[in-house]
Amino acid sequence: MSKSWDAIVIGAGVMGGSAAWRLAGAGLRTLLLEQFAVGHERGSSHGPSRIIRLSYDEALYTERMPRAYALWEELESETGSRLVHRVGGIDLGSPDVPSWHDTRHTLEQFEIPFETLTSTDLRRRFPQFTVPDNEIGLWQADTGILPAGRCVSALVRAARQRGATLLEDARVVALQPQDDGLSLRLENGEEHSAPQVVLAAGPWTGPLLEPLGRALPLEVTQEQVAYFRPRHGEAFQPDRFPVFIRHEEEFVYGFPCFEGDLVKIALHHGGPVTTADERTFEPDEAALTHLRGWVVTHLPSLDPEPVRIETCLYTNTPDRDFVIDSPSGLDGLIVAAGFSGHGFKFGPWVGETIAERVTGRASEAPHPRFAFDRF
Ligand SMILES: Cc1cc2nc3c(=O)[nH]c(=O)nc-3n(C[C@H](O)[C@H](O)[C@H](O)COP(=O)(O)OP(=O)(O)OC[C@H]3O[C@@H](n4cnc5c(N)ncnc54)[C@H](O)[C@@H]3O)c2cc1C
Repeated sequence: MSKSWDAIVIGAGVMGGSAAWRLAGAGLRTLLLEQFAVGHERGSSHGPSRIIRLSYDEALYTERMPRAYALWEELESETGSRLVHRVGGIDLGSPDVPSWHDTRHTLEQFEIPFETLTSTDLRRRFPQFTVPDNEIGLWQADTGILPAGRCVSALVRAARQRGATLLEDARVVALQPQDDGLSLRLENGEEHSAPQVVLAAGPWTGPLLEPLGRALPLEVTQEQVAYFRPRHGEAFQPDRFPVFIRHEEEFVYGFPCFEGDLVKIALHHGGPVTTADERTFEPDEAALTHLRGWVVTHLPSLDPEPVRIETCLYTNTPDRDFVIDSPSGLDGLIVAAGFSGHGFKFGPWVGETIAERVTGRASEAPHPRFAFDRF
C-alpha cells in the first residue's frame, strides 16, 4: 500500500535537509528519505567546515548570497545553534588572474565593502603567508565558516520541528512517474507517492535519473582536504589568520584553526573521477605531495606533514553551475544537483527556491544557468 505525501525529498544532505525545512515550513506534509543515517560521511555535506562568502567571480552567485546568509541566520534563531562564523577572508591573487580580477569586479559591482591589501600590507597583517611581490589580497569581513555536520543536523532538526517526517536507512531504489506526480519504492519494499518529489541525492543522482530516461552530464570526483599542525598555534587562530582562497591556475583554499588546533587546506577540484558507490576513501598521494610542497612554499610555519586527511565527493557539471530544475515533461520532479564543490553555502537558498517553486510562490523565474535541459 503506497503512502501519500504532499512532497517527498530524497537525500538528507545540505540540499535535501534545506528543501525539507522550507517545504515543511510552507505547511506541506513532507517526507525526507536518507539511505544512510543523517550525518554520514559518504557524500558531500560532512566534516567540520565549509566556506561561506559573498566574494565570487560571478554576479550570478554573489547576487544570491545575501539571501543565503539571511536564511542561515533564520535557521540559527530557529534552532538556537550558532552556524555562521564570520571570521573574515581574503582572495589572494593579482589582476592578471581572471578569477581574482572578476571577484574584485563583482564586489565593486554589488558595492560589497572590502579592503585591498598590497603585498606589503599582507606581509604585515598575515605574516604566516609567504607573499610574492605582485600579490594582492581582497579582505572581506563577511567571509566565514559553516560547521558542515552541525548545519545538516540543524536543518533536519528544524524540518522535523516544522512537521517533516524523516526516514533513515531508507534507500530509494525506483522512481515512477504517475499522472499526479511520482511514486517511489524503497529497498525494503515500502512505497510512497507525492505530487512533488525533490531529488537531492548528490553524487548518487545520475543512477536514479537514468531509469526515467533522463540524464545529466554529472561527473563525480573524490576530493580531499588535509589538516596541518602549526608550529605556533596562536598564529593561526581566527582572529589572526583568515579563511583564504588563492587564485592560481588551481584554487587553493584554507581555514584558520576552527574548533581545534589544525589548519585545513585543500585544492579545489582535480580529484580522481569515481562514482558514489565505487569511491575509495584513499587519499590521492600525488595531490598530497603537491599540497605539501604548496605548504612549504606559502605557509612555512605549518608542519608540512598533514596530521589528517578527509575525503569527500564533488558532483560536477561541465559549466560548474548548479541544476535546480525539472526535466522537461516531468514537472513533478525537481532535481537539485551538480553543486560542483561550491554549493554548501547556498543550501537554504536552494531549499527556499525549491519550496517556492513547489508552492507556486517563486520570487524569481528559474534561471537559465540552473536549467536541467541546458546541456
Ligand atoms: C572537500 C569539499 C569541500 C567543499 N567546500 C565547500 C565550501 O567551502 N563551501 C561551499 O559552499 N561548498 C563546499 N563544498 C560543496 C558542498 O559541500 C556540496 O555542494 C554540498 O554538500 C552538496 O550537498 P548535497 O546535499 O547535494 O549532497 P550530499 O551531501 O551528498 O547529499 C545527498 C544525500 O542523498 C542521499 N541519497 C543518495 N541516494 C539516495 C537514495 N537512493 N535514497 C535515499 N537517500 C539517498 C545520500 O546518502 C546523501 O546523504 C565542498 C565539498 C567538498 C567535497
